[in-house]
Amino acid sequence: MTGASRGIGAATALAFAEAGDRVAVHYSRSEDAAAAVLKSLPGDGHVMVRADLAQPAEIQQMVDEVAAALGGIDVLVNNAGVYETHRIRETSYEEWQRAWSETLGVNLLGAANTTWCAVRHMGRGGRIVNVSSRGAFRGEPNQPAYGASKAALISLAQSLARSLGPDGIAVTAIAPGWTVTDMNTRALEGDGYERRRLESPLERIASPDEVAAAILYLASPQAEFATGTVLDFNGGSYLRM
Ligand code: NAD
Repeated sequence: MTGASRGIGAATALAFAEAGDRVAVHYSRSEDAAAAVLKSLPGDGHVMVRADLAQPAEIQQMVDEVAAALGGIDVLVNNAGVYETHRIRETSYEEWQRAWSETLGVNLLGAANTTWCAVRHMGRGGRIVNVSSRGAFRGEPNQPAYGASKAALISLAQSLARSLGPDGIAVTAIAPGWTVTDMNTRALEGDGYERRRLESPLERIASPDEVAAAILYLASPQAEFATGTVLDFNGGSYLRM
């Protein structure tokens, strides 16, 4: 579970632990927060591991550490991500390049590299879930690298569903809409929450627990035949557009 120190990742770590799985709580900088998540998990045998997902060597070391501690890897959730604002007309060329490299470096290459490492520890029945976004389909006017990275994560899931299917490994993606996490603190400030809540016919925004439950389902044996599937999880917001 990458990026498990907070938000959707922390909620998903809890969901898997509650389902009886042993979980690797991955973090990059927030050691205290990751330790608090680890402590909150029911059951035994969970571990906490660190890696900056922009650093391929750190990823490899982290994944090998997880596999050694847990005796293999059954499920990988590529959840970690960054969401940077870089409006094209208001961003310098240097800043534009930095934002694209950082965003693609973590969101896309981080996931691709973690997957490369994890499949080497996965047998038949393995599951990979990429956490994409509604922005993969609609674009992100102020975070274009984020939108592109999330669209690419869907393509990655589909490609790997095809290449790993014969090995009994199912690969899916989930595309959540607005979810209340720290990533959205600024977007949900002021009238932000009210405007975004009304995008859904349910007139609310998702909780991390709801997204976590959907990820748990996608990773379950019952969902194997859904390989290559992208689960829209946005409260029906397309219906109001
Ligand atoms: P969040 O900011 O709370 O969590 C992001 C996590 O990624 C953090 O744990 C952070 O430490 C980790 N991370 C960032 N850079 C990293 C790096 N270089 N190396 C390792 N880890 C790194 O946000 P969240 O809302 O919980 O987001 C989780 C995932 O869900 C993200 O991929 C995000 O794009 C996606 N998502 C979120 C929403 C939403 O509305 N919150 C909607 C759609 C998709």
